[in-house]
Order: sequence, then C-alpha cells, then structure tokens
Amino acid sequence: MTEIWKSRSTKLGENFAKELKITSLPVDPIEIAEELDIFVEPLPADKKGVSGMLVESNNNFGIKYATYVDNIGFQNFCVGHELGHYNLPGHYEQLMSNGYHESTAGFVSKERYELEADHFSAGLLMPSYLFNAELNKSQVGFKAIDVLSQKCKTSLTATAIRYAQKTPDPIAIIISEGQTIHYCFMSDEMKEIKGLTWIKKGSRLSQNTVTSRFNKIPQNISNSNQVEGEATLLDWFGSYLEYEVNEEVIGLGRYGKTLTVLTIDELPDQEDIDDENDLIESWTPRFKR
Ligand SMILES: [Zn+2]
Repeated sequence: MTEIWKSRSTKLGENFAKELKITSLPVDPIEIAEELDIFVEPLPADKKGVSGMLVESNNNFGIKYATYVDNIGFQNFCVGHELGHYNLPGHYEQLMSNGYHESTAGFVSKERYELEADHFSAGLLMPSYLFNAELNKSQVGFKAIDVLSQKCKTSLTATAIRYAQKTPDPIAIIISEGQTIHYCFMSDEMKEIKGLTWIKKGSRLSQNTVTSRFNKIPQNISNSNQVEGEATLLDWFGSYLEYEVNEEVIGLGRYGKTLTVLTIDELPDQEDIDDENDLIESWTPRFKR
C-alpha cells in the first residue's frame, strides 16, 4: 500500500513542475513559492530540529527553511517539502489547524504526511521528463548521483533515492548511521534478482561490509571521506548468492550519516539461480509428520 501513496506523491510533484511549465534543471523551489505569492525566508542557523515550516495567517502563506545544514541542495529539498504540504490533498486540513506546521524533511520521518511531502519534493525538483535525459547521459553509481545532484541542485540523499527509482541498472542505495541501517532503496532491476531479502529499516550492517568498517571511525563521516571496496550480495541481502557487489561509501558530513551505493557489474544469471534453488531444495531434509 505504502508504495502507492509514495509514487502518487512523486507524480503530483512532477505534474506540478509540468503545470508551471518548467523546462530545464535546476528547478528552483524558492522562485516557485514566490510566484505563488508565498513568502519565503530562512530560519536562523542555530535553529535545529526542524527542516522547515509552513505558516498561514489570514490566507497568506509563508515558508521558512532550515539553514543549520549549509547545503543548498538540502535547503531546496526542504522548501520543496513545504510546497508539498501546500499542494497535496488533505495536508492543509490535517496539518494547519494551528496556523503552522513544523517539518522533518529528508525521508527520516515515520509520519505519512512527512514522507508524502518528501516524495512530492523529489518529484518536483527531479521530474522524470527532465531527470531521465540527464540520467541517460550519466555513468553508474556514485558518480552519476554526484553529477545529478549538482545538475538538479538537490541533496545527495534525495538524488540517490531518485536515481534508484529511475536507473535501468541493478543498484541499491543505503543510508546508515553507526551500525544501523536507516533505509535502503533498490532499483527495479535489483528487485528482480531472486533470492534477495529486502533490507528492513533499523537492521544492522553486516561486519563484512565496507560500510560497517567505515562507520566505526566517526571522522570518516564528519570529514566526508569516500572509500570503495567489494562485498557480496550475501553480506548485504542475506542471499545465498556469493555474487560480488561494488560498494561505494560516502560520509555525509554535518548530516552525520553515511551513503552507500551498491552496483553489480555482472548480473547473476537467473538460470544459475534457479539451478541453485533446486539444489538447495533437494538437499533440504524432509521430516515426516
Ligand atoms: Zn512537513
């Protein structure tokens, strides 16, 4: 169910960009807000804990956005999130009874309305009709995400998620902190690989992964270090497949989290997997009841 309202929110964000006749990247959410006569202003840099606010008084709307993370991509995403609350059906009624709403943008909240606004923002700032052309020109893995995030002026994490949704390649992106995985997005091609156990929010990193070792040194994250190495599908997805995956690991600085991009050079052959499955099945002891 959840996948449906998420993709619907993304679609509404994309449609909004289309209605506004935006024909090139980057999409500027502050300009959009001002065109809609929404007053926009930054929150003071020492105001932490909220990513932004939507405020209303006598039918006049305002957006405030966080500046404690000094990153234009994150700020754009936060303004896009508030435009989501302004546009998405039911949000005004649900969130604005006090005349203001404080947000936690960036795919970290568990609240449905927050996540809907996040997906709206991703769709608005990276609409398929503009994003796909850039994606087709780009390389695979973190290089692609880095270039796309500069082109779209969006945060690395938001771009990574959009990249996972749109790329034709088998990839996965993971956001972690310490030894805990916050979330994982897999591309469709990756989801097609049989025998993978999908990573759940809050699960622990396998000790065999590059990310697990990287996260043991806090400076790696605060200094925005990057490393690359190899792991296997087994390490990441508890699969019996010993296929190698390339692991790119990037510290996200003040954000305090780590981005991992998994790519596979050669896809496991589905027939081999089927054979292996049959083998495992034939060796599974059967007990008489
Ligand atoms: Zn919000």
